[in-house]
Amino acid sequence: MCNRADEREGMTTDIIRRAMPAIRLLPDQLISQIAAGEVVERPASVLKELLENAIDAGAGALDIRLEAGGVKSLRVADDGGGIACDELALALLRHATSKIATLDDLQSVASLGFRGEALASIASVAELTLTSRARDSDTAFAMGGGDAAPRPAALSLGTVVEVNELFGNVPARRKFLKSEATEFAHCAEVARRIALSRPQVAFTLIHNGRVALHLKPATQPQRVAQVLGDEFAAAARVVEAQAGPLTLLGLAGNPADAKGTRDAQYFFVNGRYVRDKVLQHAVRAAYADVLHGDRQPSYALFLTLPPTGVDVNVHPAKIEVRFRESQGIHQFVMRAVAVALAGNATQAVAPDTAAGLGLSAREVGRPMPAPAVAGEALPASLFAAGGQRQSPAAYYALFANTGMAQRVMDAPAATYATASLPAGDQPLGQALAQLHGIYILAQNQAGLVLVDMHAAHERILYESFKAELESRKIAAQPLLIPVAFNAERIEVATAGDYADTLAALGFEVTPLSETSLAVRAVPALLADADAKALARDVLSELQEVGSGDVLTRHRDELLSTMACHAAVRANRRLSLPEMDALLRQMEATERSGQCNHGRPTWYQFGLNDLDRLFLRGR
Ligand code: ADP
Ligand code: MG
Repeated sequence: MCNRADEREGMTTDIIRRAMPAIRLLPDQLISQIAAGEVVERPASVLKELLENAIDAGAGALDIRLEAGGVKSLRVADDGGGIACDELALALLRHATSKIATLDDLQSVASLGFRGEALASIASVAELTLTSRARDSDTAFAMGGGDAAPRPAALSLGTVVEVNELFGNVPARRKFLKSEATEFAHCAEVARRIALSRPQVAFTLIHNGRVALHLKPATQPQRVAQVLGDEFAAAARVVEAQAGPLTLLGLAGNPADAKGTRDAQYFFVNGRYVRDKVLQHAVRAAYADVLHGDRQPSYALFLTLPPTGVDVNVHPAKIEVRFRESQGIHQFVMRAVAVALAGNATQAVAPDTAAGLGLSAREVGRPMPAPAVAGEALPASLFAAGGQRQSPAAYYALFANTGMAQRVMDAPAATYATASLPAGDQPLGQALAQLHGIYILAQNQAGLVLVDMHAAHERILYESFKAELESRKIAAQPLLIPVAFNAERIEVATAGDYADTLAALGFEVTPLSETSLAVRAVPALLADADAKALARDVLSELQEVGSGDVLTRHRDELLSTMACHAAVRANRRLSLPEMDALLRQMEATERSGQCNHGRPTWYQFGLNDLDRLFLRGR
């Protein structure tokens, strides 16, 4: 094979062969620096890894000290189990971990870390010193990047990791870091997330000598109140739902709360903070009917499920996960939150009365209200004792197909919208009516078409943005009267840091002060949307994505946020011509069969299916 290829290519191969150096194994330090590219993006990512290690070591109290946004110095001290002297060197090696040993361990991993590369990666791009005293040892030892062996050190308990001059040896990466205030804000955010997930652990965060956060050990609801504020917790609705092996607990901000809370959306899966489009969308959908236009829901929600139902090893920083059955999870979360929001005012509770918010395995087992909406009870089999006899997949499938819908969908010819449209001039037919403000009913040659109007509109907007962005930049529509609003400091910093990216997306958002912003232009396609809410949405997305070429790496997320935000909401009454226009746009849009979150946008019910339902012609 190789020889023949050489003959065919003739001279060209010769030239390539001479110009291309031979293949060689990379030195360890360089491998770690490459790995660090994924794990260590900024001080906040270092802090996240160190805090996770301390938690995994069983720490009860964490002391965090930062200088200059964590770039100059970042130090985490814990009172956990410590590291034995003869393992210190190993801890700093790549692919060395005490947390997993086999593939089975990986598939059911319960610790926050498991990749065994954080310390090695950090040490390759900063000056790292690890000082630790194992619980059964009467001496502490320290080891730094350059040390050949551990040396005795003074420390009474636990572990201290100190990281100085991040990216000092990688100027290209250091250049990408933002202002000290921005980097610190990201560090504080990381601390808040981990604090929320581990209420029993005490946290102190000190920046440039000033205390920024001080949290005593607490119950879960108390911790939510400590981090998101008493006001939030007192007005929030308790979310408490269980179905089979799935549990969702937490607090969902009261939509009617007149004092708009800050943009605080925290979702945890098995004790790990994640950013997941399926979950975010599910919560947003639950709020869609009750939230005023310019508000972001605030929430702290804790989902638990069997580790086999979710893959945590899909992202180097482990902030994204992949669910085995994301449709079922979407449905479960959406219903659980919707039920909580639909409750009356008596459901709002003071922080310490929400006893059910603990997340221990013991508590998960106790009975909780089902996430079913009235008149649509989930099958009793779902709550079979133990919940382990059926595979998780079988459970989730049950959520996705309850009641009438299931019978209809099971009919063999009911087509789940695929990429190919039915035949005909106007394949999706003519609109007949709108159902409950959510669905469009249309008649086409084959029978009945049912469209989820929000999902469909979202996909159309998303594809238009993508096309616009690919051809040039997204058309901006200057606002006659700029929309000014009070903003978080981090939002103001983000607007400054990402001015170019915002411009490419069709936005102009300029600071008025350290705590206020003005929206001066929005994407023309979204001219009718709520400018403030839209800008905040995009800013919070940018805030999360970190450094580097945002538009290449996070284009789809950004566009999908814009589309989801601006798509026509449930309960908006559409006229027949408006509905027809939507159907025509769907026909003209690529991939219009699914919304940006992978849910279907329409179903075809053939006349045959309907006949079968009514036992006609049998
Ligand atoms: P991972 O957390 O994926 O195992 P790390 O590189 O973060 O990989 O850490 C390597 C090992 O060092 C861990 O598996 C753990 O045994 C040990 N370690 C790191 N930090 C601490 C700490 N704060 N306390 C105790 N052990 C620690
Ligand atoms: Mg780790």
